[in-house]
Amino acid sequence: MRWNILLIRSVIEIKIDFHVHTQWSHDAFGDFSEISRWARFKGIDVVVVTDHEKVTLSKPEVFNSIKFIPGIEVKTIYGHVLGVDIRDALDMEFLRVNPIDAIHESGGISVLAHPFDINRGKKPQRSMKIDAIEVINASVLLFNFNFKHSRAYAKMLGLPETAGSDSHMPPTVGDAFVEVEDTDFDEAMRSVVKGRGRIFGRPTSMKNKIKLNLIRLAKRNQFSTIIK
Ligand SMILES: [Zn+2]
Ligand SMILES: [Zn+2]
Repeated sequence: MRWNILLIRSVIEIKIDFHVHTQWSHDAFGDFSEISRWARFKGIDVVVVTDHEKVTLSKPEVFNSIKFIPGIEVKTIYGHVLGVDIRDALDMEFLRVNPIDAIHESGGISVLAHPFDINRGKKPQRSMKIDAIEVINASVLLFNFNFKHSRAYAKMLGLPETAGSDSHMPPTVGDAFVEVEDTDFDEAMRSVVKGRGRIFGRPTSMKNKIKLNLIRLAKRNQFSTIIK
């Protein structure tokens, strides 16, 4: 008699911050170890590393039980675009010419970041081949304005929603995130793109915004002292 063994993998609730900068962005601070400690404290399971114009991680890594996923944030004619869960090497030349196709060719998911931020946003276009819209970004100037309009646009275009802190220093990681039920950490981001995620977030506190600007100022002064 043959027995068919059915493997049942239990479903877990996974919290993902889709938009996090590290010290490898010119305007951000904190290494993976510091970020992972804060992510744990905030109850985040997965952090997508989206440094400016570069893929910092070549493959997923785990620090302090937090999973870090390769990603990027690029400036494009459509506004800022996130490449999430980059699986193969990203062709940087092609990225400059056709960012969304380049992200797709590397196995990544393309997300339009903070489309309604006053100084950094650009309204989504119907012709874009984008996979999702970042509806919550914790760092935008006008949080509710960006949220309301991004949500309406995602709905209009029939695209799934994501959320990310756009953290530039460890204490702000997890200020916004997506929660999704899945059996697998590696597939969780794909489930979000299928519309199975729930988004949460709050604006990054004024205290942390001031702190970030003070650290940036101190860093700039340090550099100017060295140059002198
Ligand atoms: Zn941005
Ligand atoms: Zn960003």
